[in-house]
Amino acid sequence: MARPFYIDDDECIGDGSCADICPDCFIFEEGMTVAKVMHFDCDEELIEEAMMTCPMQCIHWGEGD
Ligand code: SF4
Repeated sequence: MARPFYIDDDECIGDGSCADICPDCFIFEEGMTVAKVMHFDCDEELIEEAMMTCPMQCIHWGEGD
């Protein structure tokens, strides 16, 4: 089973770098102010890279709120 993760919407600044790194798992399109998680079934290394690259460090493992 894929490991869940979430974006803290209160912290996200919408720069879109998570979606650049892992477009299968994250979506950030024109008109959106924060990125969204599409699904969890992605390469964990790519998710970790997105977590480390995120300027706000607001992508976290877990279910979120
Ligand atoms: S990289 Fe972080 S701050 Fe940028 S859109 Fe993704 S979650 Fe938001």
